Amino acid sequence: MPIRLRLTLWNSFLFGLIITIVIGIVYFTHRQSTYNDVDNMVSNISAHVNEEVNRQLEEGKKLQNVNVSVNSFSGDEIAVMIRDKQRNLVYSNSHTFLQNHKTIEGHIQLRVIGFDTIYDENDTRIRLKNSLINIKNTNVGSIQVFFSLESVDKELKQFKWFVIGLALVGIFLASIAGWVIAKKTLRRVNLIAKTAKAIAHSQNFKHRVLHIGTLDEIGYLTETFNDMLDSLEKVYMNQQRFLSDASHELRAPLTTIRGNIDLLHKMSSIPDTEKEEILNDMSSEAVRMSNLISDLLSLARADAGQTLDKSIINLSRILIQVIDEITLWDTFQTITSRIEDNIHIWGNSNSIKQLLIILMENALKYTSEKGLISVKITTYEKKALISIEDNGIGIESKEIPFVFERFYRTDKARQYAPDGTGLGLSIAKWIVEEHNGEIQLKSYPGEGTTIDLLFPQINYPSI
Ligand code: ATP
Ligand code: MG
Repeated sequence: MPIRLRLTLWNSFLFGLIITIVIGIVYFTHRQSTYNDVDNMVSNISAHVNEEVNRQLEEGKKLQNVNVSVNSFSGDEIAVMIRDKQRNLVYSNSHTFLQNHKTIEGHIQLRVIGFDTIYDENDTRIRLKNSLINIKNTNVGSIQVFFSLESVDKELKQFKWFVIGLALVGIFLASIAGWVIAKKTLRRVNLIAKTAKAIAHSQNFKHRVLHIGTLDEIGYLTETFNDMLDSLEKVYMNQQRFLSDASHELRAPLTTIRGNIDLLHKMSSIPDTEKEEILNDMSSEAVRMSNLISDLLSLARADAGQTLDKSIINLSRILIQVIDEITLWDTFQTITSRIEDNIHIWGNSNSIKQLLIILMENALKYTSEKGLISVKITTYEKKALISIEDNGIGIESKEIPFVFERFYRTDKARQYAPDGTGLGLSIAKWIVEEHNGEIQLKSYPGEGTTIDLLFPQINYPSI
């Protein structure tokens, strides 16, 4: 069943229930008070007649001769009768009443003192009050006051149908209102669904849902949906850019290699020294390309949500290994280190090694041959802290936020070291995040760069 119909039915049902209860209470209260009014009036008449009869009897009149005036009441609705001790009718103020309700005589229960309701031949209800005439504690007869409930019942019946009609009209109007409100609300939900469909159809993340109305639950949903589209669009654009950057970067070494191969083909008699140079060039481009491909592979795995196998690793030992490895390279910079032993973390040793090499490589690449690189590992606020500091070319403060982006290289770095791809720091960032760590970069142009790595430390007894 569609939500719109369900909402409307619930709305109508609840409104109907409430209106039925309210109208029921109103109707029954009104009915009760009407019947109470009738009884009060009958009681008053009965008391008045009783008083009058008593007065006349005390004056010496015979019961057969008493005369009471209840003229103010219509004879069609009200009748007063007086009977003697033998229950013979001695006085009736209205003959029309008896004519109109012929059969009531047989229904009067004279033994019942007080109120009673009797029915005539047309099923008209008649309220009756029977009271005794007592003179000096002896019963001399009885008085009956009748009141025809015909018009009261008719009025109440009309009132009943009026309130039922009112309730039905109310429920009908509430249903229409519910239907319209549900349509208005669901229109906004439909708008979101339509946008989602349009995106699925066109794969264009530029669509947004038009925000209408207030910031209620659906407004909030719309906003969240638009936020989600923002981030999807960003991811999609990044992916596109990554693909085009990667193709571009791969094309450069391939073009050089192909050019060199052509050269070797065309010029059959090249001097050996020149041939050697061409081959070296080709080899270094091939190395560059294979490095690039392995970087791309790392990032592709990261994007695919690959998680690293982890165990307790000795970070201090890995750092020493990396420094040892690097000192074997053809480097001229001075590398100093300060190592606190046996700092353990939960991690993947190969990735941590890759991370440290990326950062050390940067420090070496962007620092002059006379430069100084200092590396340290300590404990800082219960965390393992590795700092790699160089006094190289540094980075402009406005460029710092971008260096972790894929393929981003500063102009200065391009001039200083043309053979870079700009993927190192993005891989580094991913590895750090995978280890629940933090990477912080401080840099001043011309002064140098410091990178701090923080990892949750594990207290592990050294062996
Ligand atoms: P590669 O992918 O080959 O490492 P890359 O070194 O240019 O290339 P990243 O390591 O990601 O790429 O570094 C991004 C940029 O950050 C660099 O191009 C450089 O501009 C800047 N950078 C990183 N480390 C340093 C540093 N130690 N000193 C100065 N600039 C740095
Ligand atoms: Mg680098």
